[in-house]
Amino acid sequence: MLANLRGGIQGRTGSAPQKAAFAPARRGCAHARTGGRRTTVVVRADGGDFYDLLGVPRSADKKTIKQAYRQKARKFHPDVNKDPGAEDLFKKIGEAYEVLSDDNKKAIYDKYGEAGLKGGMGGMGGGPGVEFTNPFDLFESFFGGNMGGMGGMGGMGGGMGGFSQRARNRAVPGEDDKVDLQLDFLEAVFGCSRELDVDRLTGCDECETTGVRKGTTPSTCPQCQGTGQVVSAVRTPLGTFQQVSLCPRCEGSGQISQPCTKCQGDGRVRETKRISLKVPAGVDAGSRLRVRGEGNSGRRGGEPGDLYVYITIKDHPELRRDGITIHSDVEISYVDAILGTQVKVTTVDGPVELKIPPGTQPGTTLLMAKRGVPRLGSPNVRGDHMVHVRVRIPKSLSADERKLVEELKELQSKTKVGPFRF
Ligand SMILES: [Zn+2]
Ligand SMILES: [Zn+2]
Repeated sequence: MLANLRGGIQGRTGSAPQKAAFAPARRGCAHARTGGRRTTVVVRADGGDFYDLLGVPRSADKKTIKQAYRQKARKFHPDVNKDPGAEDLFKKIGEAYEVLSDDNKKAIYDKYGEAGLKGGMGGMGGGPGVEFTNPFDLFESFFGGNMGGMGGMGGMGGGMGGFSQRARNRAVPGEDDKVDLQLDFLEAVFGCSRELDVDRLTGCDECETTGVRKGTTPSTCPQCQGTGQVVSAVRTPLGTFQQVSLCPRCEGSGQISQPCTKCQGDGRVRETKRISLKVPAGVDAGSRLRVRGEGNSGRRGGEPGDLYVYITIKDHPELRRDGITIHSDVEISYVDAILGTQVKVTTVDGPVELKIPPGTQPGTTLLMAKRGVPRLGSPNVRGDHMVHVRVRIPKSLSADERKLVEELKELQSKTKVGPFRF
């Protein structure tokens, strides 16, 4: 197959897609700074006092604060409390707990209020402010990754179903894969087609990616009776809670199956696949080509990952490359430098005649327009080829040559003009 490279080219040659990726990032930063400045004058913004939110006095100790959080967070968790505004309150309660349970944050809050935590207050040195944990993650750190601690409360059926459903049928996207590709100098300049043998995980044909051994059918998990969850009682200072967790035997699927002999139950096997890659003109060392969908296969119907091809380039005996510009050297004799000459220069297009004008100085750079590298993504635009001229001054002269140069010297002293006036 022919790999689809459209829009997937990234390189350090200043290609268009790369620029597009940088621009929004800069805008994002500027926006964030504006937000920080705006909070400077607001003290105790919306949401009310953190102590009031948790219903504790300002003198409350850590244990009281923790207990208050547990109680309030369980009351207002949006899975349980369907009142409008319960979720906002739940998040606010999480923030309140995060601040009041941390000595540093609490001290700032007591002094400057909520605005002090968001940065910009003089006392905070205009720092980036405190980042709050996702309130649901905080909740889970208390109650164990699910609503298990909520056993006995009404309206939980839907939530539980969602939990096990997710674990059971969760599609897992395939991992990206990478491969190195070394190109010859000219292959990188003009692009090329290459066949790559890529070793990656692909869907198992033996079990049709299910991971279940051929000819067997999955049976109900004896440990969880097919629910995918196990329930245990957890004793805490606040009472006994029912802890519901993922069944360790079936990993939440509710079913036990014999693993496929070919893929050991993964649903994928490692296989070498040949991919035809079209390398675009102008790729440079360090360019990364993304081949969409040619990474490892996903699991349970998940999207496959992408294949990233990292480009390295072999040196050329004569040509050097700097982005889209080619450099090379040419050496001429001092006589040719004086009188001018024509030389044959190796370019990416092959040998080209170059005129060296009379009176060319050592170190002169001559430009051969549009003999450089096509720009990645817009191959009609080409860089230039810079020819650096070196002038060879002989270290020793034959007797005849010496005689002629001395004659020149004499001529020069008479006329006060001439090519040898240094
Ligand atoms: Zn089970
Ligand atoms: Zn298999």
